Amino acid sequence: MRYDLAVIGSGGAAFAAAIAARRRNKSVVMIERGSIGGTCVNTGCVPSKALLAAAEARQIAANQSFPGIRTEVGAVDFAALILGKRTLVERIRGDKYVDLAGHYGWQIVRGVAGFVDGPVLEVALAGGGSRPVEAEHYVIATGSAPFAPPIEGLAACGYLTSTTAMELDELPDSLIVLGGSYVGMELAQLFARLGTRVTVVEILDRLAPGEEPEASRLLQQVFADGGIEVRTGVTMSSVARRDGIVEATLRYPGGRIDRLQGQQLLVATGRRPVTDALNLTAVGVKTGNRGEVIVDAHLRTHNPRIWAAGDVTGHPQYVYVAGAHGALIGDNAFDNAGRILDYGHLPRIAFTGPQLAAVGLTEEQATQQGVDCTCRVMTLDHLPRALVNRDTRGLVKIVAERTTGRIVGVTLVAPNAGDAILAAVYAVKHQMTVDEMADTWDPYLTVGEGLRLAAQTFTRNVALLSCCAS
Ligand SMILES: Cc1cc2nc3c(=O)[nH]c(=O)nc-3n(C[C@H](O)[C@H](O)[C@H](O)COP(=O)(O)OP(=O)(O)OC[C@H]3O[C@@H](n4cnc5c(N)ncnc54)[C@H](O)[C@@H]3O)c2cc1C
Repeated sequence: MRYDLAVIGSGGAAFAAAIAARRRNKSVVMIERGSIGGTCVNTGCVPSKALLAAAEARQIAANQSFPGIRTEVGAVDFAALILGKRTLVERIRGDKYVDLAGHYGWQIVRGVAGFVDGPVLEVALAGGGSRPVEAEHYVIATGSAPFAPPIEGLAACGYLTSTTAMELDELPDSLIVLGGSYVGMELAQLFARLGTRVTVVEILDRLAPGEEPEASRLLQQVFADGGIEVRTGVTMSSVARRDGIVEATLRYPGGRIDRLQGQQLLVATGRRPVTDALNLTAVGVKTGNRGEVIVDAHLRTHNPRIWAAGDVTGHPQYVYVAGAHGALIGDNAFDNAGRILDYGHLPRIAFTGPQLAAVGLTEEQATQQGVDCTCRVMTLDHLPRALVNRDTRGLVKIVAERTTGRIVGVTLVAPNAGDAILAAVYAVKHQMTVDEMADTWDPYLTVGEGLRLAAQTFTRNVALLSCCAS
């Protein structure tokens, strides 16, 4: 049988593409070599947020700040926590992925797919043997995998990735986290809040190096308050394991050497596209420097019948991007829609506590792009919601075009910032000005109110707010 669409992978990108095709009554086949659902549900978004929510519950109980309320915490039953996470993942995988394939009506073939000339897929079946799969269109949705930098001794020493760290049998006493960006920060805080002594090592000069420096400083302070040691501007040059303990050699600028020990080492230095088994050269699909499948703005590869979606494209690694890619390919492959995506208002969220959420340009990016901008930073001690919560650690930063007041970027560090940032996503997308935001209703005693208060500081003499303007 020749299908209308063959999708390689079964993650967010693959499912969105398959659903888009089935909604047009096209025949679809999906090939998956690992767990159905891919990264997000099995080893990414869902398990990490489930464990972070548990760790936050413990953190709140351990650090009660309300008068008259007493809580206490006991030891963590880590095995039970991991088992509970697995059960949740299985349920969501069933509801949101496996059952959906049945509902929409496509077959999932278990095996490893690779191209041969044609283009045709040759699938090495999980149960043995192989079979060809032929389709009018193909979608490469093979995702990404943890990347480990070339550090002397790393492979021999044995290390954790985000995937294996969330499958440990026992909570480690101590943990070195290499990498201080989103995944590194989330997992560092997760383990610290469960009771592990955590040290984060980041080669660049701050946590969350791509975000606003004010947010990095604030999170570094929060980490310090939570007992997490953060070492920035440091290169891990070698590692070795002695008597079960990891010993890392750290090189500081100027040549100073230090040693750091931990029971476990977690490498969280980014993820690289997965194309290993695909035999892309056979069908003329090209890859870039970081192994990403090169696509045009319509997500078509160098082979006109082959498309690529999600992490494998090297585009921003979020499941909502993967999903948008899959849907867009449905439009472009079957309706010739010529649709493209705009990442200008794409939200970025680190599910730390408080959360870091951002949209649009940082001040540095705006300046680099030649935007004559002006910025305000409002700390959360001016936000009623933070005051009643008795936790004012956080900030709002707005970057606006100086002459027009158009909002080009917003960063929020606050509890539930990931929810509140949605208002800023709309503002950036629809080119709202700070005056318009300042004059827009917002509900009192919410984190979202911080957006309006920060916007007011651009034009009004709000004496109470000690904002720094630049
Ligand atoms: C710890 C962690 C936390 C995250 N948290 C969030 C979050 O909170 N929010 C968010 O938006 N994003 C989050 N992400 C990112 C998100 O998970 C990814 O961006 C998204 O899942 C990518 O989806 P995808 O469809 O591109 O690929 P994947 O979901 O990775 O799917 C690719 C699939 O292809 C299969 N495959 C590969 N090669 C072959 C082959 N040759 N033949 C057959 N099958 C093959 C793989 O087995 C895999 O199942 C997180 C990621 C991690 C690691």
